[in-house]
Amino acid sequence: MKRRAALLTATALTGLAATLVTAPSAGAHDTAAPPRTGFELTHGARWTTQPEEQRLLETVDRASGRVHVTRIGTTAQDRPLRLVRIGAARTPNKVLLVCSQHGNEPSGREACLTTVRDLAYAKDRETKRFLDRTTLLVVPTANPDGRAADTRGNSDGVDINRDHVALKTAEGRALAAVIRDERPDVIYDLHEYGATPPYYDKDLFDLWPRNLNTHPGVHDVAQSLSEDHVRPAAGAAGYSTGTYGIWTDPVTGDPIRQTAGDGQERILRNLSGIKHAVGLLIESRVDPLTDAEKADEALNNRRRVDSHLAALNGLIRFSSERRGTVEAVTAKARAAGYADRGAVYLGGADNETPEPSEVLADPPCGYRLTAGQYAEVGDELALHGVRVQKTGNGVFVPLRQSLRALVPLLLDGRATYHLAEGEAITSCR
Ligand SMILES: [Zn+2]
Repeated sequence: MKRRAALLTATALTGLAATLVTAPSAGAHDTAAPPRTGFELTHGARWTTQPEEQRLLETVDRASGRVHVTRIGTTAQDRPLRLVRIGAARTPNKVLLVCSQHGNEPSGREACLTTVRDLAYAKDRETKRFLDRTTLLVVPTANPDGRAADTRGNSDGVDINRDHVALKTAEGRALAAVIRDERPDVIYDLHEYGATPPYYDKDLFDLWPRNLNTHPGVHDVAQSLSEDHVRPAAGAAGYSTGTYGIWTDPVTGDPIRQTAGDGQERILRNLSGIKHAVGLLIESRVDPLTDAEKADEALNNRRRVDSHLAALNGLIRFSSERRGTVEAVTAKARAAGYADRGAVYLGGADNETPEPSEVLADPPCGYRLTAGQYAEVGDELALHGVRVQKTGNGVFVPLRQSLRALVPLLLDGRATYHLAEGEAITSCR
């Protein structure tokens, strides 16, 4: 495998030679060479197995003082869900990578495992400085049962990336708890897609949160992450890029049709924005379009992974260079809900005007849930981090809180994916 490509994350950040990362270390524990993934060892002929992932993470955890691996949940088939934390113990800035929510889209996971390893063993000053100020959180295999079976959904056939509101799956619940407890400033969600040449076949497509409840500052920085950082970084490495879900004219490049990428809140990309993180979905192309890739599956696989790694470079650079901006917009977005002002949107997107019926122009000040309703959805509200007030016979859920827009999305009967139909309260003291 092209070892240098696998080291892009650490090296492009610094501009220093890749050899720095693999150079023997003076440390007591890490004299051994950095571990390699099953994918790397086979030059891309197959994907890294779960036992190989476990060994790699254990090795990295032991060897590097800046890496900590924890278990954040267990799947229905008893596989561990893991979170890798890389960086100083406490940093104000956190970036979360969510890798291969869809089990049959393995290349994001490979890029994540390689990135974890490279950052763990990086010795250069700039990477150290980056990790002193930013914690990278990685869920390397967000859907272990689906990965084992090579299926999109988990072992119950549930699409985890449609479960971020309902939280019915162990995978969705574990991720919600991470987002609630860590409050990541950036959430980067790695996928793969099937091409439709010549309209929809770029090496990479990405997309920011289109949901209209995303704070404008967060939305704009997410779009900038795509357009000013991730796409240029991928382009510099020779990969073509575009906007997820938008078919373009092969000659003019003009958009001709939208097939995906709407504003629905149950997708991680959109819920990231609603929860005040700079979100980005990124998808590498599965299909081999060149004769060389058609003739060599490993070459095809390496392009799928290496394009993700090139884009991750853009993310790391963004996280380093625009840390202050990111912290400012996420802090402002988190605080905005306490003013309890402005519309809440039950539909629409940043490129689709909502129907009048989808706009709560003057939303209620909260929703009342009966004790029975609260017994049904209390766990989910807690996992989301929604604050409730106990009342005599149930709870009151005020909009005046950080996750203000999420409250109607969860509790208003008109919201498409509501958990419960709360009683809208329009006058509050
Ligand atoms: Zn996917």
